[in-house]
Amino acid sequence: MRKRWMSLLVTGLLVGGALVPATPALAAPTFRVPFPCGQSWSGQTRSDHSPAYAVDFNRTDDQGDPVVASAPGTVDRVTDLGGTSYGKYVRINHGGGYSTYYAHLSGFNVSVGQTVGYGKVIGWVGSTGGSTGPHLHYEQRLNGADIQVRFNGTLALYWGTKSYTSGNGCSSGSGNATVDTSGTPLTVRSGPGTGYASVGTVADGTRVTIACQTSGTTVTGTYGTSSIWDRIGSGRFIADAYVYTGYDGYIPGIPRC
Ligand SMILES: [Zn+2]
Repeated sequence: MRKRWMSLLVTGLLVGGALVPATPALAAPTFRVPFPCGQSWSGQTRSDHSPAYAVDFNRTDDQGDPVVASAPGTVDRVTDLGGTSYGKYVRINHGGGYSTYYAHLSGFNVSVGQTVGYGKVIGWVGSTGGSTGPHLHYEQRLNGADIQVRFNGTLALYWGTKSYTSGNGCSSGSGNATVDTSGTPLTVRSGPGTGYASVGTVADGTRVTIACQTSGTTVTGTYGTSSIWDRIGSGRFIADAYVYTGYDGYIPGIPRC
């Protein structure tokens, strides 16, 4: 599945006979590590960082390495602040008040107004602005305020340094996909439905290869409601509603089971 299930909570209060809508709350996008699929980067958080919840990413010889959009959205800033602050930075608007920042870039690969998806290269790691060495300074914000970073729904390490492996843009229509449950392990069934026996689980964020797809029990998951089930091994099926494949519905070129 591709499109994230957006749970729009529009509640209302009856006050003096008039319907007063509460502020709609949109689900957070599923953010992914801002580097290409399969890469591992060291991400550091520290309480004296500005803003506090930003993550600085490094790996060996990272100058010039590609930086990718951590979720679908629209680029709304491509700015060069020169030798101060962020230096060259990109901001992406993900809707619902969510945005991401990518700073100290050595160069840009997008322009303002451009629509981007998972895995889209937006620029390259650099050391521009107030930076003393190549790294990516990365932020997630909600309504302009710095928020604690989450990848695939999982909170980053506060405070400290941890290795993050990217599952960003891994799907290519080849059947490669990523389990996305926002935390809970996903049950693997012996057949395409919740009535089949459980034969194990796969952890959130696991990369899987889908051999074939078929229709079974309807499931509501991270990516909405779907009756598609993915076969990820002999006698092993998972609900497509919890799998990022890059496609809504069946994956082109992948056979029916
Ligand atoms: Zn930083």
